Amino acid sequence: MAYDANNIFAQILEGKMPAHKVFENDHTLAFLDIMPVSVGHTLIVPKVEAENIFELENEPGSEVFKTTKKVAHGIQASLNPTGLIITQLNGTDAGQTVFHYHMHIIPVYKKMPLRMHGKEIEDSEALAKTAKIIRQAVVDIVAG
Ligand code: AMP
Repeated sequence: MAYDANNIFAQILEGKMPAHKVFENDHTLAFLDIMPVSVGHTLIVPKVEAENIFELENEPGSEVFKTTKKVAHGIQASLNPTGLIITQLNGTDAGQTVFHYHMHIIPVYKKMPLRMHGKEIEDSEALAKTAKIIRQAVVDIVAG
């Protein structure tokens, strides 16, 4: 399947669709999942056209990894999850629903069960509040 330049994450990258951003640099963008599995569920996308791991070149791939680490530290420091799932789906059969490569960071909290993947749209104010908390934590981490 050819890359669809109108996919929702491409539109977010172009500023045509809103997102609750937590970190951005020249190579990547991190923003909250609109249907989070848990509080702080974050997606990291490269700023290149790649549908999945097979299309993603090593260099943008390593930029995604670097941003994932930064944001993971920010989530850990600010939301205090008891665990952190980092995952990435390739292909419909694997559960991929948006065909622009993305990494998921899913915080896990003891006694707070995970919700179903991609089922329930979160309240925008709640997302904005969480994004602000993570964004500040990542700024602090980057500043050292
Ligand atoms: P995947 O199933 O790995 O392709 O994950 C796609 C994710 O994108 C799902 O968890 C959706 O909840 C999420 N999602 C879909 N549309 C948006 C959007 N406009 N903003 C943020 N996250 C989105």
